[in-house]
Amino acid sequence: MNILDTFSLKGKVALITGASYGIGFAIAKSYADAGATICFNDIKQEFVDKGLAAYEAEGIKAHGYVCDVTKENEVNEMVAQIEAQVGVVDILVNNAGIIKRIPMVEMSAEDFRAVIDVDLNAPFIVSKAVIPSMIKKGHGKIINICSMMSELGRETVSAYAAAKGGLKMLTKNIASEYGEFNIQCNGIGPGYIETPQTAPLRVKGNPFNDFIISKTPAARWGKTEDLMGPAVFLASDASDFVNGHILYVDGGILAYI
Ligand code: NDP
Repeated sequence: MNILDTFSLKGKVALITGASYGIGFAIAKSYADAGATICFNDIKQEFVDKGLAAYEAEGIKAHGYVCDVTKENEVNEMVAQIEAQVGVVDILVNNAGIIKRIPMVEMSAEDFRAVIDVDLNAPFIVSKAVIPSMIKKGHGKIINICSMMSELGRETVSAYAAAKGGLKMLTKNIASEYGEFNIQCNGIGPGYIETPQTAPLRVKGNPFNDFIISKTPAARWGKTEDLMGPAVFLASDASDFVNGHILYVDGGILAYI
């Protein structure tokens, strides 16, 4: 056995949710580089079209689907289409996520529920949709995109922290419930990463920006590329005995604060 071969994703079908751009896109690109066939979704056709164009510009022939991951009927239909058109999903990355930065006492219950719906309920719905075929096929990898907020709380992110903390525990549960079927479920906890989601914070002189730079041992924001190696590892045979873990990719900030 050549150890490098175990990192290959050749012949694998990967579904990355919410991957028209940002972290999901970078992870999908790394999977394509490692040999996988890429499927992704977004809520709107225009974002799927933009995503398809972005993949094509990288020389990747991706399969794009319009699907709201909070809607079980839409998710089941997408997974059925992928199985018919591309093949059984070998690798699922629950990446789609939203954040609402609102002080807790000012947050409506509706806003709180909306965050829980995308960041916690949806990974349950999509995982539930792919696991039966993974069991039949005899293997599967599920990677949940968690957050440092799976471990911490801070001002204005009560719903997000509750959802990502819950996602950490869903990860451990899937690992223990389906490990016997050769399904590994792990999480990636990104630190502060440069994406459209964090653009409003990444302004020089913004106290939060200065806080992040001063508290991160790496002294910089993370780049989407920083997530590629960990994501490939957790999707590949190289991690077959790794199950139920959250791999924090945060420049060391969790070790420091
Ligand atoms: P973005 O907001 O840039 O991308 C999230 C993607 O999810 C978008 O394509 C969005 O689509 C999609 N999405 C949202 N709701 C739904 C839905 N109901 N159905 C389908 N797709 C949906 O986020 P990032 O790339 O920054 O983050 C990706 C993941 O990483 C998220 O889970 C996030 O919480 C997590 N994360 C990010 C960090 C960061 O610093 N950026 C840090 C820690 C974790 P659309 O644009 O159409 O709304």
